[in-house]
Amino acid sequence: MNEKKERGTGSIKNKKDFRFFDVEKCDDCGICFSTCPVMELPEEYAKKDIMALIQGDVESSQAYDRCNTCHTCDVVCPQNADPYELILERWGEKRMETGIPHIAVTVFPNEPGNYWGSIKALMPKEELEMIDRWADLHPRKEVVLTGFYSNIFPYLTQTKLLDDLRPAIAGSPEAFFGCAGDIYKTGAFDVVEQMGKRMQKIFSEMGVEKMYCLMSAESMMPREVLPKRFGINFDFEIQSIEEWLLERIRSGKIEIKKKLDMKVTLQDGCLSKLKGGIEQDINREILQRIGCEIIEMEHNHEKALCCGYGASASKLWPGMDLFAVLYLMESSLRRLKEAEATGADALVVYCHGCLFMLSMMNEFLNIKIPIYHVTELVQMAIGEEPVHKHAYRAWDVIAGVTNLLLKCVLSPSYRAPFQPKPVSEEVEPLAKPSEDDIRMIEAFAKLYHSPIVQNFVTKALIGAASRAIVAVYSNVWGRSYYERKLKRD
Ligand code: SF4
Ligand code: SF4
Repeated sequence: MNEKKERGTGSIKNKKDFRFFDVEKCDDCGICFSTCPVMELPEEYAKKDIMALIQGDVESSQAYDRCNTCHTCDVVCPQNADPYELILERWGEKRMETGIPHIAVTVFPNEPGNYWGSIKALMPKEELEMIDRWADLHPRKEVVLTGFYSNIFPYLTQTKLLDDLRPAIAGSPEAFFGCAGDIYKTGAFDVVEQMGKRMQKIFSEMGVEKMYCLMSAESMMPREVLPKRFGINFDFEIQSIEEWLLERIRSGKIEIKKKLDMKVTLQDGCLSKLKGGIEQDINREILQRIGCEIIEMEHNHEKALCCGYGASASKLWPGMDLFAVLYLMESSLRRLKEAEATGADALVVYCHGCLFMLSMMNEFLNIKIPIYHVTELVQMAIGEEPVHKHAYRAWDVIAGVTNLLLKCVLSPSYRAPFQPKPVSEEVEPLAKPSEDDIRMIEAFAKLYHSPIVQNFVTKALIGAASRAIVAVYSNVWGRSYYERKLKRD
């Protein structure tokens, strides 16, 4: 047996103790957690932290408590030891014992209370019809996989840019849900594997020979994560929709009629850091070709900060629901502030998950930086006017979240932790909200879209109150607390 050297407490670890983390490659250099854009630990602390995690001393690990699931540590590790997976494995072990707090049902489509069921209750007819069409899984050689969060913004496909691919779009919440990129963040690897196998089976039955991913960053799940971690391989070509758009811009098939002359900053999603950051380069080239000047945020490319979504993963422990929300808000606020500090005209995203989170927090925290998906800017450059209703959709999401949080607060039984249900290899129906839930979500949405909320004063007050709450959290338990602690130590 190839044993790893003794560390710290004397425990001896070898590769078979971990599912994905390669302890035999790790030399405790600490580069992972000193480069981590969230923690930026001094080298000696970073070394101690990785050792604590290896030994299972999770209480001593800041990474265990603060990881935003951004992938940076994996891509900077000189030994390719996959330290991010070490964190996920430790979380997964613990969650097998404790379960996941109820608030996490939002990302499990087979649990009532998931985002897609709530949003569908509020969507207009034309968007519901689009999503219904995407449930069609008839055999075809080419498929455009929507991915989880494209189904929150179906109006983004209302562009002639996608006319040639429109019949190939598939992947509604009723059909199947994409590549499980967000569930991977919880460490629920079994569910990810089940979803990956389901996708492999469905596409094999459809006879797919080429897949385009509408969620470009999520294309890294079937291209990189599912094959490398779970041995789930796809015997067809996979390309992001932005790569396809860029090829058409380069070849002149997409005619740029108007250079945009905008200064923009770009949010690089967590999965975009994989495969040498190819998606990051593609999106930058698109923006440059349509006349945008890119002003980078302080943390960019391989050191980009999470939009905030992944931050909640580190706090998903029973009884910690509120902390998960507060840490998410703190992380999102940090990212939006970085974007604002560039002085750019707009924040551009190419991950629908980032669009989802940043739009919601931009509204709730009243930050006000305009947010665009890269496709919308290409639309503008060809003379189209994008539908662009992210702010409106953000309040729809907030309505669903309000209902969920209210139920968590009012009903102790509702707060009970759960274990994710196994995912069948067959297509499963989306778990829908109850009639009572739909009534509540509609009532909250009506209020949030009304002039009572949609006015300068109320939005300023909501933003100021939520930022004050984040500031208290940050000083007592969050980022400021850790920064002071590091200085003290
Ligand atoms: S995981 Fe990689 S970067 Fe982190 S301590 Fe080990 S070898 Fe160094
Ligand atoms: S995944 Fe990102 S946030 Fe988490 S420890 Fe690694 S670098 Fe830090």
